[in-house]
Amino acid sequence: MNARFPERAGAAAYVRPSYDEIRLYAPNRQPAAVDLSDNTNRWGMPPAARAALHEALNRGGVRYPSLYADELKRALACYAGVEPRNIVTGCGSDDVLDSAIRACAEPGGMIAAPVPVFPMVPLFARMNGLSFAGVPMSDGCVVDVEALVARDPAIVYVCSPNNPTGTVARLEFIRGLLAESRALVIVDEAYVEFGGGESAVALLPESRRLLVVRTMSKAFGLAGLRVGYAVGAEELVQAVEKSRGPYKVSAFAEAAAVAALTDGLPWVHEHVAEVVLLRSWLDSELQARGYSTLPSAANFIFCPVRDADCIASRMRELGVAVRPFTKLESRIPALVATRGSALRISVGPRAELEAMLAALDRAAADAEVPAVCE
Ligand SMILES: *Cc1c(COP(=O)(O)O)cnc(C)c1O
Repeated sequence: MNARFPERAGAAAYVRPSYDEIRLYAPNRQPAAVDLSDNTNRWGMPPAARAALHEALNRGGVRYPSLYADELKRALACYAGVEPRNIVTGCGSDDVLDSAIRACAEPGGMIAAPVPVFPMVPLFARMNGLSFAGVPMSDGCVVDVEALVARDPAIVYVCSPNNPTGTVARLEFIRGLLAESRALVIVDEAYVEFGGGESAVALLPESRRLLVVRTMSKAFGLAGLRVGYAVGAEELVQAVEKSRGPYKVSAFAEAAAVAALTDGLPWVHEHVAEVVLLRSWLDSELQARGYSTLPSAANFIFCPVRDADCIASRMRELGVAVRPFTKLESRIPALVATRGSALRISVGPRAELEAMLAALDRAAADAEVPAVCE
């Protein structure tokens, strides 16, 4: 034992003490015959993206990709209706969120967000030495602007359409946040394509403190390639890019993403339209069974059920994966009735949804307590 450098136990000897409390992100990811658990595109990726990926594979991968994915920035700028200097890309939008937090909030600060929240956000807060303050959503899935900004957070995170509830935050609400706080406001629009048009990008001319984060993992079907981006004022985007570092988008991912945003775009629009139709069919099927689903603007449906863990693991035995949530904090009446327990079910092709409903019916029939609240 060295007297000058006394040993702490195990990994704690060389790991930041605050990292002891952080658990590895590991939802149940075993393969299932029908996997409706992660909101990826169940129809695949645009054929144009797949072709571009093949071509890029043939060209190599020996040299580094471009430093900051300029070609992809140009394609994204065109898609989002902004200039390339307003875009920063990353290895998935998770990387962009993490980089934005690191760039904009000093350790010791706070991130505030409505809850239920995308589970990565409290995790990224802790990884960057920040605290996380969740403000429970009320009936109608809304929170007060005042409640969110009351403790002077460095960052306010709002996901719209929200994962996991599928509900939308109105632009007036985002405007209110910008007016009533001095925080960086991050709007996560991972599911914006399914929401029917409203985007916080429209507010960018009004504020330099707004960062709109998006992904190519959902509507564009490129989750495995890891491409995310954010749109914001040039100085803000530059700071996030510094924090992100070079070479984060691989040459393969960039080639496929550019193709998806150009030649692949009609395919994307078609499949988004199909999801929207199937979503309303699935919603009516669930409601007919007595479930109090929330109105969804995303490619999944949030379905409060009692004992979600139990229902989901029974469904898994039947070959269907959905995402269970338990102990969610909120004042949403349907969620209060199930004590914060719900399933998040991705919208896939009709046959997958039918298999899911059959498994749900079986699991609910087998459950010890009724899954539906009377
Ligand atoms: C899926 C998802 C993301 C996307 O993550 P990637 O890292 O881009 O795959 C970001 N935010 C939310 C809310 C999501 O649901």
